[in-house]
Amino acid sequence: GDQRLLENGGATLATSPETEWNHIINHFVKNQLGVWCKPPQKDLWEFVKIEATMGEEVSVVLSDGSAITISTGEILPANEKNLDDVDDLVELCYLNEPSVLHNLKYRYSRDVIYSKAGNVLLAVNPFNEVKIYGNDFVTAYKDKKSNKPHVYATADAAYRDMMKDGGNQSIIISGVSGSGKTETSKFAMQYLTSVGSQNNNKIKNKLIQANCILEAFGNAKTSKNLNSSRFGKLIDVNYNAEGIISGASIQALLLEKSRVCRLRRGERSYHIFYQICAGAPPILKDMLSLKMASEYKILNQSGCLKINGVDDADNFIMLVDAFDTFGIPHEVQESVFELVAAILWLGNISFVVIDKEEHVVPKADEASRNAARLMGCKTDDLIDLLSTNRIHDSTTPLTLQQATVKRDALAKFIYDSLFNWLVEEINTSLKGDEQHARHTISIIDIYGFESFQKNSFPQLFINYADERLQQHFIHHLCKLEQEQYELDGIHWKNVESEDNEECLDLFEQNPTGLISILDEGSNSSKATDETFTDKIKKHLSSNSRFSCEKGTFRIRHFAGEVPYDTSGLLEQNSDKLQFDIIQLLSSCKKPLNHLASGLVKQDQTTSQSAFVKFKDHLYKIIEQLENSKQHFIRCIKPNIKQLAGNFENGIVWEQLKHSQVMDILQISKSRYPISFTHQEFATRFGCLLSHNLISTDPLRTSVAILQHYRVPTQTYRVGSTKLFFQGQVDVLENFRQEV
Ligand code: ATP
Ligand code: MG
Repeated sequence: GDQRLLENGGATLATSPETEWNHIINHFVKNQLGVWCKPPQKDLWEFVKIEATMGEEVSVVLSDGSAITISTGEILPANEKNLDDVDDLVELCYLNEPSVLHNLKYRYSRDVIYSKAGNVLLAVNPFNEVKIYGNDFVTAYKDKKSNKPHVYATADAAYRDMMKDGGNQSIIISGVSGSGKTETSKFAMQYLTSVGSQNNNKIKNKLIQANCILEAFGNAKTSKNLNSSRFGKLIDVNYNAEGIISGASIQALLLEKSRVCRLRRGERSYHIFYQICAGAPPILKDMLSLKMASEYKILNQSGCLKINGVDDADNFIMLVDAFDTFGIPHEVQESVFELVAAILWLGNISFVVIDKEEHVVPKADEASRNAARLMGCKTDDLIDLLSTNRIHDSTTPLTLQQATVKRDALAKFIYDSLFNWLVEEINTSLKGDEQHARHTISIIDIYGFESFQKNSFPQLFINYADERLQQHFIHHLCKLEQEQYELDGIHWKNVESEDNEECLDLFEQNPTGLISILDEGSNSSKATDETFTDKIKKHLSSNSRFSCEKGTFRIRHFAGEVPYDTSGLLEQNSDKLQFDIIQLLSSCKKPLNHLASGLVKQDQTTSQSAFVKFKDHLYKIIEQLENSKQHFIRCIKPNIKQLAGNFENGIVWEQLKHSQVMDILQISKSRYPISFTHQEFATRFGCLLSHNLISTDPLRTSVAILQHYRVPTQTYRVGSTKLFFQGQVDVLENFRQEV
C-alpha cells in the first residue's frame, strides 16, 4: 500500500518534451504571443511575433521590419508582459536564456540591481551610485516595510534566522573580479551593525573603518577593477543573546605579495603607497624623506600612478582617521608609515657591477641610506645583505638578478608582515566582550576569478580559491537538496549540474597534485622551473582539465581556461626567508625585529610553502561556513569596461552560466522547501480528522488528511519518511486554528 501512495504522490505530467513544445508553439501562434529568436549572423536575442507556421518552420518579422523563416528549434517562448519584471526569476513562466537576461536587463535599466534566483541573491554591479542604501532603507528592511530583493534583505534574513534558531549564519559573496563583492560585503556589514548595535556606535564605527585600513593596504588597481581585493577576507560579527554586537574578528587570506615589487602595465601597487606620497603632511614627509610617487621605481614601472575619480591625498586623511578610531597611537602609526616608505626606498636601490663575473653591490646612495634609516638598521649592514649570500661562515657574491630577487624578497616580507600585523591590531581592538558572545554572522568576500594574458602564482591561488568556493556553492545549492529528495524516495527529475571535482583534484591530489608538486619543489634546493614543468607534465597530463606546452600550462577552470607561466612559480610559492635576511631584520628597530623574532623560532629549512598554508586556511574557513546557515549572494559584472548603465548580454550570460543559475532556478521552481516527518504531520494536523479515519500508521493518517482536505497533489510529495510541500500548508493551518 505504501508504495502505491509513494507513486501517487510522485505523479508528474505524462507528456514528452516534443509534444509539449508543439503545444506551446501552437498556443503562441493562436494567441499572437511574442517569442525570442536569434536572427542569423546576429548574436542578440530579439523579441518577435510568429506570423505563420510551416511544419517545422515559422516566419517571423524582425525589429528592422525584415521577415525571416526560422526553424522552430531556434525560437524560445517569451514570457507575457506582466512578467517583464519579476523579483525572483523563479516566477518566470518560461525559464530560458533570453527571458532571464531580459528580466535582469529591464530591472537594471531602472536601477533595480538586485533580483533573486531562488535562494540566491543576484547583484548586478551598477558601477555608479544608486539611491537604495542608507538609514532609511536599512529601517525599511528592519521594519519589514520592504520585501524587495536587496543585500539588506539578505543580511536581515541572516540576522532573523540567528535570533530565531540561535545558530551561526554566514553570508557568502562570490563573483568575478570587479563584480562588486567587496562593496556588497560593506553594505551587508552596514546593515548588520545597524540592527545589532543599539547605542554601541564604537564597534559599529570600527567595523566600517576597518575596511578603510584593509583596503588601503590590501587593495589595488588592476585592469579588471580599480579597487581589486588582493587578499581574501572573512569577517565574524559576534552577537550576544539579545542580538547586540559584542565584538568581531577578521581573518585575512593570503595577500598577493608580488604586487609590492612587480606590476603589470596600467596597474598599480597597493593604494597606501600612492596615498602616502600624495597625502602625508610636510612633517611626516620630511621624516620619511618622501618624494612624489613618480620618483619611485616600484610605482612608476607600470605607467599608471593615478586612478580616475580617486583622490589619494583625501584617502590618506581618511586612513589616519581610521587608525585614530582604532586607537592606534601616533608613534605606532609613524612606524607603520616608516615601513611603507622603507619599501619605496628599497625599490629604488640600484646596483653597480664590480667584477668580470658581473657580480654587483648596491649603491651607497640616498635610496639605500633612507631604506636603512627607516628600517632602523645600519646602511652598511643593508648593503652587505644585498651584496652577498651568507650561509654559515661562507659568503658568495651576487649577480644583478640574485641581488634584485633578494632585495624584493625583503620588501615583500616587510609588506606582508605589516599587513598581517595591522589585521592583528584591528582584531585586538574589535575583540569586545567575548564572554557574552553567543552567535556569529560571518561575511566572506575573497578575490574573484581572474585571467590575464600572462598569469602567475597569484592567479593560481586566487583561481583555486574561487574553484573551491564554487564547489561549495554548487554542492550546497544543487546537490544537497536533491539528495534529500532522492534519499526519501520521492520522484524527482534530477538536475545534473556540472561539478568541478576534477579541477580540484588537479590541485589537491596527494602527493601528485599541483599543490604537492609545488610544495615539494619549493622545499628542494635542486628543483628548477624545468624539473617542475617535467613533473606536472608527468603527473597531471591525464587530467582533462590540464594541458601543458613550453613554459606554460593551462587549467580549464569552471569560469574559463587560464594559461599559467611556469617560470618563477616555485620561488613565489616558497615562504622561506634566507637566514641572513632574518638576521638583519632582528637587528632592526621595532616592529621589524619583533616580526623577525617569530621567524627565528620557526624551522626555515622545511617550512610549509605558501600554497599549502593557503589551502589549509581555506579549508578551515569552508568548514566554518558549513557549520552555519548559509546565505548566498552572487555578484555579476555587466560589462568589462566597468561602465555604468551598460548591460552586455553575452558577458552576463557567461557569468550566469558559470554560477549555474539555470540549474538553481530549475531546482527552486520544483522544490519543496517545507517538510514534516509523517509523525510530525499526523500529530500536528490529526485533530482535523474524525477518529475513525486516524490510523496507527502516521503515513496513512497524513495521506488521509491531505485527501480529506483536497490539498492539490501537485503541491506536495509523499516520501518514505517525510512529506514535502512547495509552500506553507495554509489551508490546514487555518482549519487547525479553528478547531
Ligand atoms: P575583486 O575580486 O577584484 O576584489 P570585487 O568583486 O570585490 O572585485 P568591488 O571592488 O566590490 O568588486 O566592485 C568594483 C567597483 O564596482 C567598485 O569600486 C564600485 O565602483 C562598483 N560597485 C560595485 N558594487 C556597487 C554598488 N552596489 N553600488 C555602486 N557601485 C558599485
Ligand atoms: Mg573585492
